[in-house]
Amino acid sequence: MIAEVIKQNLTDIQQRMQQACAVSKRDPTSVQLVAVTKYADWEWVTALAEQHRVFGENRPQQLAERKALLPQIQWHLTGQLQRNKARLAIETATLIHSVDSLRLLQKLASVGRQLNVQPQVLLQINVSEEASKSGFYTAELRSLWKDILECSSQVSICGLMTMAPASDDPQDARPFFRQLAALQHELSERSDTQNSAVTLSELSMGMSGDFTVAIEEGATLVRIGSRLFEGL
Ligand SMILES: *Cc1c(COP(=O)(O)O)cnc(C)c1O
Repeated sequence: MIAEVIKQNLTDIQQRMQQACAVSKRDPTSVQLVAVTKYADWEWVTALAEQHRVFGENRPQQLAERKALLPQIQWHLTGQLQRNKARLAIETATLIHSVDSLRLLQKLASVGRQLNVQPQVLLQINVSEEASKSGFYTAELRSLWKDILECSSQVSICGLMTMAPASDDPQDARPFFRQLAALQHELSERSDTQNSAVTLSELSMGMSGDFTVAIEEGATLVRIGSRLFEGL
């Protein structure tokens, strides 16, 4: 029963992702679904693990616990990270979507150096400049860009992440997604990608309510939680 509901939801989401790619003339393999399991019961998580391989969690501790039980899954950290959990995050997460300050980035660089690994991260941008959200403001990111690049010998900066303001109309999210894509383009021009681990190729944007719009605007990673578990 649980497996069937999840399979139906997953199929529906994948079809909508493909439609959004068709509409925007994008290669369907260029967009990956990150299944956000932060509120999912363990039974749902194990059922989904039979059908999907890339999961996202918001808390490093829960991510680490679940990864220990499902090591075949690629776990991404999508929620806010405190610097004192940097080591745990590096040891367990394939990709950290939520680097929201220069201090956190520098911490990840120094722990990465100690562990002799190069963490893969996205910079979280507060495009809408809502006080309730974390992330770099666009202007702040521009002015910090040189300092950020200095960390890139030790951290792979793979792209940018954002969350659009909550709204019932997915079209409301479009300008924020478009701004994130424009920022990605602008910063790519300012980075010497041959000499650093800054690729900026990933755009993590779009959730249950607005992922098709995000794909139309260039998302390469969509983070979907509630929609996957609808009906359970
Ligand atoms: C919860 C969460 C999601 C998934 O949200 P849904 O609306 O349930 O799809 C995506 N990204 C982040 C950062 C989240 O916290």
